[in-house]
Amino acid sequence: MRSKNILSWNNSLPTTLYSPSSPHSSPRPSGSGTMGGDASLGAPGSLPRRSDHPVGQRIKGIYTDRLRQFTSEGQYSGQNLVSKYFEAVNSDEDHVKLSVYSPPDLSRPTFEEATSHEFKPTHIGASFGPSWSTHWFRIRLTIPEDMLDKERLEFHWDANNEGMVWNEDGHPLQGLSGGGERIEWVIPDAWRDGKEHVFFIEMACNGMFGNPPGDDQIQPPRPNKYYTLHKAQITAVNLEARALYYDFWIIGDAAREFPGDSWESHQANVVANAMMDAFIAGNGSQESIKQARKIGQGYLGDKVDSADVYKAGTDNAIVLGIGQCHIDTCWLWPWAETKRKVARSWSNQCDLMDRYPEHRFACSQAQQFKWLEKYYPSVFDRVKRWVKKGHFHPIGGSWVEHDTNLPSGESLVRQFLYGQRFFESRFGQRHTTFWLPDTFGYSTQIPQICRLAGMSRFFTQKLSWNNINNFPHTTFKWVALDGSQVMCHMPPSETYTASAHFGDVKRSVTQHKSMDQDNTSLLVFGKGDGGGGPTFEHLEKLRRCRGLSDKTGLLPKVTMGGSVDDFFDNLEKKAATGTEFATWYGELYFELHRGTYTTQANNKRSNRQSEFLLREIEYLATLASLKGGYKYPKERIDDMWEGVLLCQFHDCLPGSCIEMCYDDSGELYAEIMETGQHIRKEALQALGFATKNTGKGFVALNTMPWPRSEIVPMPGASTATHGSKYVLASGETGVITGQPMSGSELPGVTVSEIRPGVFRLANERLRVEVQDGVITSLYDVEADREVIAEGGKAGQFVVFDDKPLYWQAWDVEVYHLESRKELKSSKTVIAENDPHRVSVVTETKISDVSWVKTTISLASAVRGEATYVEFDTEVEWRENMKFLKVEFPVDITNTEASYETQYGIIRRPTHYNTTWDMAKFEVCCHKWADLSENGYGVSILNDSKYGFATCGNLMRLSLLRAPKAPDAHADMGRHRIRYAILPHIGALDSRTVRAGYNFNHPLVLQPSSGTEVMHAFKSIALTGSPALILDAVKRGEDDEDVSRGELPKRPGQSIILRVYESLGGRARGTIHSKLPVKKVWKCNVLEDDEEELRLFTAGGNSGVNIELRAFEIATFRLQL
Ligand SMILES: [Zn+2]
Repeated sequence: MRSKNILSWNNSLPTTLYSPSSPHSSPRPSGSGTMGGDASLGAPGSLPRRSDHPVGQRIKGIYTDRLRQFTSEGQYSGQNLVSKYFEAVNSDEDHVKLSVYSPPDLSRPTFEEATSHEFKPTHIGASFGPSWSTHWFRIRLTIPEDMLDKERLEFHWDANNEGMVWNEDGHPLQGLSGGGERIEWVIPDAWRDGKEHVFFIEMACNGMFGNPPGDDQIQPPRPNKYYTLHKAQITAVNLEARALYYDFWIIGDAAREFPGDSWESHQANVVANAMMDAFIAGNGSQESIKQARKIGQGYLGDKVDSADVYKAGTDNAIVLGIGQCHIDTCWLWPWAETKRKVARSWSNQCDLMDRYPEHRFACSQAQQFKWLEKYYPSVFDRVKRWVKKGHFHPIGGSWVEHDTNLPSGESLVRQFLYGQRFFESRFGQRHTTFWLPDTFGYSTQIPQICRLAGMSRFFTQKLSWNNINNFPHTTFKWVALDGSQVMCHMPPSETYTASAHFGDVKRSVTQHKSMDQDNTSLLVFGKGDGGGGPTFEHLEKLRRCRGLSDKTGLLPKVTMGGSVDDFFDNLEKKAATGTEFATWYGELYFELHRGTYTTQANNKRSNRQSEFLLREIEYLATLASLKGGYKYPKERIDDMWEGVLLCQFHDCLPGSCIEMCYDDSGELYAEIMETGQHIRKEALQALGFATKNTGKGFVALNTMPWPRSEIVPMPGASTATHGSKYVLASGETGVITGQPMSGSELPGVTVSEIRPGVFRLANERLRVEVQDGVITSLYDVEADREVIAEGGKAGQFVVFDDKPLYWQAWDVEVYHLESRKELKSSKTVIAENDPHRVSVVTETKISDVSWVKTTISLASAVRGEATYVEFDTEVEWRENMKFLKVEFPVDITNTEASYETQYGIIRRPTHYNTTWDMAKFEVCCHKWADLSENGYGVSILNDSKYGFATCGNLMRLSLLRAPKAPDAHADMGRHRIRYAILPHIGALDSRTVRAGYNFNHPLVLQPSSGTEVMHAFKSIALTGSPALILDAVKRGEDDEDVSRGELPKRPGQSIILRVYESLGGRARGTIHSKLPVKKVWKCNVLEDDEEELRLFTAGGNSGVNIELRAFEIATFRLQL
């Protein structure tokens, strides 16, 4: 009866005697007189005088290793607990009748479509495919006589792929993920009637991670994968044996993972061995299983079979468990599959909530909710019921879990505007936590944008993947460029898809880096990406972890039933009452996945173009809508934005998806462009613009909030006067007429071959020398200085070998820099020699299959405008794991370079002093990067690129990569890329900021109608500091003539203006309007009025003075 001894030993374990916190723990004072004194003075000892048998020291390692025997599938599985899991199984054709319908052409039909077809008999062992195909199974189930009174009946289905269980009425019940992961569906008790019952399983021929060819999950998917149905059976589960399995697992983990010098580890070892011994002594009988569980209670307590285990005081429960199912909106599968993953995963969670009252599940991404609402209304209703009960927690406030490096500022704002409005309209709530566990680095203005979108908390985890420096905080305040802050938490278990292991709970303390301030943490558990979120197993294990903490100790206490909001509420309360949390200023740079600034160039170009197009059409549509006779096309603009926001998902825009996803996004971007062009045309028509040539000359449209003067080509083959194909378009915001120029009005530009093979392009301000396709000299006439570093070659193409450690599409690794290879160009020739624009062209061979053709141009210098040398580059790119970049060595000295980021500028080192500096060997920029010293600087503009590096005085724009996984054809083909080198006298200032906008949106001449409504463009203007950028003009979301009714309408018309301070200092300005403005409000980005501003009127115009702090983003609502 050894086990009994153990049990009693355990129960009588004198924890108080040895506990360091016990008042009895100090040794007795020596010399008390009883030690070794006269025996007759004390009670006789109970220890027998003679030893009756020898007892050895237990060899801990052996007794620990032995524990595996009990639950392993190996040679002992017929003897151990594994053999007791199921009381009976049945898959014979009398009880499980299978038939199947296989839709053609990889289609994904609805339940109604699918079940209207004929189903053909099939059987276990049959195989189904190819990859991405769908198969609908009808299952006719009859519970066998001998299973009718079993405690728990489950249907087990496993074909190593994903599936969804549907009832006969066409309601999805729960998902299955295959491969032994989630294969069970609990059969309703009502089916124990001896009759036949019908249900369906929709099989998707893909696993959780798509269709990788082998174990390497990021390799491009295999198109012809087949899946064998190897399990379809009724199973009577021995719930007691299942429970013992989890008891034993957690105690075994305690034996293995608690510190070897802790008594808790020794005790776990002793208890677990005793449990095995009890099972063996009882020959694996049901009684012995119960006996083993009873022994386990000595370590786990007696409450682990229900949620009651969490009732024993939450005072010092410092780890809050929250379920999650991180579903990448597209990645190794297309959007169409994500829609099904969402329905499968979330219905699983609703199902678990029925059985586990402590379970809480946090779920982000408005887009996924919107899909569910549309395609799975009954699951959406089920979700809504659980949201109402407070168990299912929509979270995050954004449209998708988007990338934050690449989208524009306005895109980031819209992620929250569209996200928060969706959640508010469907669930009556906005979110306070921005939830972004997996995105690849976090841009510096996120805290400010969060605060403006009603959020004060930020959750992520990805920085634990840094492969150079260990991020120093778990819980801290993250501070934006303007000083705005959010409370940030990164779970110390370092995962957002924890399996709720003992180790995850333990690491919540051992890896917590902010213990000086607060010891609490989130444990975010559940299988991601179609794994369906938490399983019953996770919940069972956590109950045992908690039981262990209460009964035995040492493991931090997990609590359940709370929310992420509760967790952050507590942190904010502490911050408010004096706890000084550490701060982190500026971007949360991710030291990995640096290739994602460049991979999938077409997608990134489309993102940039869509953002500019949306900016323009919202502005034009706003002006047109105020004129009458034109309806603001809110629905189409919403569709465009939702498309752009979807494509900014954290695998899509960064370039880490499979090829299928880029087919999808390419199609969506094409729709966005088409819709946008229609809207633009309609709005321009409403504003009196011509649709075709009218013979009334040409006009350009300046939609930038500042005057512009540009040399623009005449449309078609028209030639302006003075022998030039170009005219000068110059004017304020609005309609600009093109002015033909004579040499006296505007000094021209020349090109000549000054020495064999050396060309000089010169205008009034710059002299450029080009030899063999590169700029060997760029001389600033006015500043009287050379811009190119001595011996340097600007515009030099370089190719690097690009083989990261693993994540091909994601990563470029630091060692790629050592493989730098200059590309040699062929001869340069003059391509254009117009009085107002000249250019030379050069072809450069990259390899036998790839080449670059670059046109370097210089236009006449226009007074008051930045002058730059433009590169228009066409690339045929067919490389294999290579990285193409272009270099600009400049004669500038600074230890920091500046990069445009959303609503501001971020400075990063140009050196590798520390590992933190060196980690930034490749960084993200938006429309420009700049290296300046006192008095002078150089900006590099681009029209579609995001990757950059400045190393010393060498500026390097990243152009194209060639990863072969997960998209084998990423970036293969033809590309056109524009960039420019813009030298400037004085510091980095608004010239560069404006040039970035202008360069991305050149003025274009179009036929004039002669009736353009010029004054419309004067109706709104911003004057004052050139640091203030009027970045967006749109109509109010809830204006009664605009609203789509998802939230309460607001009377009247209003105009929303988004203004930001772009250079990093306090700036004043005035908003002017010729419209009948009644009131002006400063708003948040959700367009809630926050502060009414003083409106003044002068000369029939109204105005309001504004003042922004450094890098502030401000939204103003003009109520008409
Ligand atoms: Zn992800």
